[in-house]
Amino acid sequence: MEENTVTTSNFIRDIIDEDLEKKTYTKVHTRFPPEPNGYLHIGHAKSICLNFGLAKDYKGLCNLRFDDTNPEKEDIEYVESIEEDIRWLGFDWEDRMYYASDYFGKLYDFAVQLINEGKAFVDSSTADEIKDHRGTPTEPGQESPYRSRSIEENLELFTAMKAGKFDDGAHVLRAKIDMASPNMHMRDPVIYRIRKATHHNTGDEWCIYPMYDYAHPLSDWIEGITHSVCTLEFEIHRPLYDWFLIALHLENRPKQIEFARLSLNYTIMSKRKLLQLVQEGHVSGWDDPRMPTISGLRRRGYTPEAIRIFAERVGVAKRDAVTDVALLEHSIREDLNLRSPRVMAVLKPLKVVITNYPDDKVEELESINNPEDPEMGSRILPFTKHIFIEQDDFREVPPKKFHRLYPGSEVRLKNAYIIKCNEVIKNENGEIVELLCTYDPETKSGTHGSRSVKGTIHWVSEKHAVNAEIRLYDRLFTVEDPEADEEKDFKEFINPHSLDILNDCLIEPGLVNARPGEKFQFVRQGYFCVDPDSTADKLVFNRTVPLRDSWAKIEKKGK
Ligand code: ATP
Ligand code: MG
Repeated sequence: MEENTVTTSNFIRDIIDEDLEKKTYTKVHTRFPPEPNGYLHIGHAKSICLNFGLAKDYKGLCNLRFDDTNPEKEDIEYVESIEEDIRWLGFDWEDRMYYASDYFGKLYDFAVQLINEGKAFVDSSTADEIKDHRGTPTEPGQESPYRSRSIEENLELFTAMKAGKFDDGAHVLRAKIDMASPNMHMRDPVIYRIRKATHHNTGDEWCIYPMYDYAHPLSDWIEGITHSVCTLEFEIHRPLYDWFLIALHLENRPKQIEFARLSLNYTIMSKRKLLQLVQEGHVSGWDDPRMPTISGLRRRGYTPEAIRIFAERVGVAKRDAVTDVALLEHSIREDLNLRSPRVMAVLKPLKVVITNYPDDKVEELESINNPEDPEMGSRILPFTKHIFIEQDDFREVPPKKFHRLYPGSEVRLKNAYIIKCNEVIKNENGEIVELLCTYDPETKSGTHGSRSVKGTIHWVSEKHAVNAEIRLYDRLFTVEDPEADEEKDFKEFINPHSLDILNDCLIEPGLVNARPGEKFQFVRQGYFCVDPDSTADKLVFNRTVPLRDSWAKIEKKGK
């Protein structure tokens, strides 16, 4: 990656530095372990940037591992989207793409070893019995009546489980640890269960599946992972993570390190709930531009650079906190400010006739593409007698400090002339349909000594403008924490105005061939990008983010 990312130190780096110094490890090898049961979201992006970022900074490696131990919920569609999203973010796992299911054979052998060493047993209790005997955080659990089965009997049963001799739920394999442990996860956790389900990778080869807590440390070990970075909820699982590695006498054990997951206000990050939004049609799909998914953000017009900078800015912490979504919006605005060409687009057009301008004249006016970057050059805009301006830029009765157009006022047309509004034409319903204005030929932009007026507005030439549909997005939820209400479901807080489609927008002619994904600043409005729904007949744009920067305001206030 080319950009200068500021790599701020954090507690994970401190741990790695110490490990390398003490030679606990001689290299850094991380992994990103998504479960292919949904599309990746901005929280995953943080984990991806962290894991791949650490590997890069320490000249180590980062694997992509699909953590696919739940056959029912997983799907190849998700596998493919995850690969695409990580690549798009700018990271590369080279030839190290793995599936936990690749290790089912090895994991089975490890389980047999645990049985042989008296460290695992087959429990024939029902799921409810196991639950009832678990105890509470303050009271010890009860040992299963099957806990003292002989090694031979355990081996025989486990082999029969694998061979498909039993129905789902008939038996489970449990680690034999300590039913009195204050840590509930250490109370003889289940490590294998019977599931007669077809798996997206292994098909019908297996009917017993390992549990996450068992599969994860062993998959890490098999891949030679040194630092297994995960989110805070796994902190309490860490003794179990270590227990499996120690019980199996494995050397060069990986180290689990936990950090606080990213949460954003006005945003849902649970894959289960995002799936609900998709399945129930509250959004158009996983890549709906209102979704916090990487594919949604991409379609909305976010860049990988903005997401990486955002991930760096939120940092890595040991305590959960909510990040303001305005920081994410600030990151994309900052990135697009530097790189996107400025163009003129009228969202809600109002016709203006410049009565003293020659009927058929087309004047070519030069306009620079990006004041932030002279190298982006300039373009020619056609100016004519009939133009459109934004409805919002005219008021028949102007409020105080309204420096735009109203009867008798003057305003500058960006890159063109100063015009004056002389007459308002209305239809039979009293709606304003057209303004009659005159222009001052002495005021062409860029002309030396031209006078100035307070307001400048954008415009397009009627004859040259290109028609477009523009989709304006707002936050998907109306409240900061849609999951906080005890009675109401999060879906009750869906913002009914999160999508506003404008159909009769007019764009300057140069954009006629704009391709999906291309990004622009519509002057005075915000950043927009071409949606994949765009066709040769009709351009479709998504508003990525408006110009107004609420984060900058928040920062200012804080000072
Ligand atoms: P679930 O367990 O509900 O399916 P998950 O969000 O944990 O969802 P995984 O696919 O298991 O999904 O996540 C892959 C990796 O991404 C894990 O290491 C997880 O810790 C990390 N991750 C998930 N959500 C976040 C988040 N909001 N912030 C940072 N990291 C996250
Ligand atoms: Mg998970």
